[in-house]
Amino acid sequence: MTSKKHQESLKKYAEAIIKIGLNLQPGQRLIITYGPTRGVPHQFAPLVREVVKSAYANGARFVDVIWSDEELLRLRVQHAPHDSLEEYPTWQVSAVMGMIERGDAQLSISGADPDLYGGLDAETVAKVQQVYLKNVAPVNLNISSNAINWCVVAAAGEAWARKVFPDLSATKAQTKLWKAIFETTRIDQPDPISAWQKHIHTLRDRAKYLQARQYSGLHYKGPGTDFTLGLPNGHKWISAQSLAQNGVAFTANMPTEEVFTLPDRNRAEGVVVSTFPLSYVGALIEDFSVAFENGRITRVTARKGEAILQKLVDTDEGSHRLGEVALVPASSPIARRGYLFYNTLFDENASCHIAIGRAYRFTLTGSEELTEEEFNSAGGNSSLAHVDFMIGSPEMDIDGITQEGTREPVMRKGEWAFET
Ligand code: ZN
Ligand code: ZN
Repeated sequence: MTSKKHQESLKKYAEAIIKIGLNLQPGQRLIITYGPTRGVPHQFAPLVREVVKSAYANGARFVDVIWSDEELLRLRVQHAPHDSLEEYPTWQVSAVMGMIERGDAQLSISGADPDLYGGLDAETVAKVQQVYLKNVAPVNLNISSNAINWCVVAAAGEAWARKVFPDLSATKAQTKLWKAIFETTRIDQPDPISAWQKHIHTLRDRAKYLQARQYSGLHYKGPGTDFTLGLPNGHKWISAQSLAQNGVAFTANMPTEEVFTLPDRNRAEGVVVSTFPLSYVGALIEDFSVAFENGRITRVTARKGEAILQKLVDTDEGSHRLGEVALVPASSPIARRGYLFYNTLFDENASCHIAIGRAYRFTLTGSEELTEEEFNSAGGNSSLAHVDFMIGSPEMDIDGITQEGTREPVMRKGEWAFET
């Protein structure tokens, strides 16, 4: 990973992250983390340094990084006293909250070991995960209401690369994963910045069309799936670029292929079948289905990982309900690769998906000022969890249900069924 070409790509990637992802403004500060608050693994230092350079080149006032060693998280689960697991390094949360309150920018780099907790006691892992979610909730709340310009990108961590390409040597796997990252984030194109601007435009046109239709719901039909979800009044279709409350237009995910909005927490009926495995807290949930009544999950089944899926659903009341519905064509550049990335940032951009749990405030018009109760009674959803799972395929048809109750094609055989 030291070739000149790789270094050149990292530099272009960093520039796209700063200019398109964060759209970092002159004078802004930036904090770089792994996930909402955790430290970035040291192995990502070459990318982080390029991002820092690019940030200062674009007028950043100050860039800070929280570093960590991911192995330490595993060691804690293995060796720390059981009664200490409620404890959390709250200084990390304070650091990020301080930046958010000042209107600074946040970059989160994913790509650490997806099996970090593999083989460890499931109860302990679930406990650690819940304490983590509880502690980072204030950060998640600010991020999910776009308080600041934020962005999530990936780096090809060694363990992650080996998971995606188990038949390759570590070095070859990492090289191949970096290549996939650069291609799906348009870094391999002659002018990545203008390629992104064009892409943002195309997605925005899809979102605008759906916004104008004001559907009251969507109906999904595919192998094993017969599922209807409601879209609440005031739902907002969102694509790549959003406007943060600090006034900066930013692109929260790189890559991004989705157009998404808020499903009504009280209206979901029928059964939906997963079309990709779900990687969750280091475990793989495969061939699963989720049944809904009145918006609430009544039953889950899975060929593999059913207990973990049930645990996820049982996190709290909100994790029995939906918080996001996203449309992605089956021919998306990520789906076309034909392999699972074991990383939501990529996998959710391979297929239409829905998310169990927390809804994004910005998917409901005028919701920033609502209390949690008001948000939820308008169709929003609150939960410690937000987990996307993939339901789209080339065999999926989706209809939009109009306010009058008639149906219009939105997707046919996994592809957009309307012109913009
Ligand atoms: Zn999504
Ligand atoms: Zn999501």
